[in-house]
Amino acid sequence: MIYLNAVLEIILIDSESRKRAIKCSACDLSYSARDYKLLFDSKKLLYFKFKAPKTKSYKNFCHYCMVDHLYKNFPFEDELPVKLITSKYEYVCKLYYSDDSDDTFGLSDNLFKK
Ligand SMILES: [Zn+2]
Repeated sequence: MIYLNAVLEIILIDSESRKRAIKCSACDLSYSARDYKLLFDSKKLLYFKFKAPKTKSYKNFCHYCMVDHLYKNFPFEDELPVKLITSKYEYVCKLYYSDDSDDTFGLSDNLFKK
C-alpha cells in the first residue's frame, strides 16, 4: 500500500464543452466530439484528464485505462481515494478495482448522481 501526500485528482472531460475529437493516451481509443457526447449521455464511456504528481502535463484516458493507469502507478489493495472534478462539482470518492472487465470502473454510478 502506498500512501500519498495528496489525494489524486482526476478531471472529467465534459462532453458538453468538448469540441474536438478525443483520444485515450493509453489505448488510442478515439471518438469525435459528437460521438463522445452520445456515449457520455448513454453512460457508456467517460474520458478523464489526469496529471500524475511530479509530472507536468495532463493526459487523457478513457475510463477503462484511467483505472488501470492509477492501479499500475499507485497500487492499492481495496480502494484508492480520488478527487473527481467535474465542471460543476468535486467529489471525493473511492476507486475500486475489479477483475470483472465489464465493471472495472466503480465510480460511474456515483458520478451521475447529482
Ligand atoms: Zn483507453
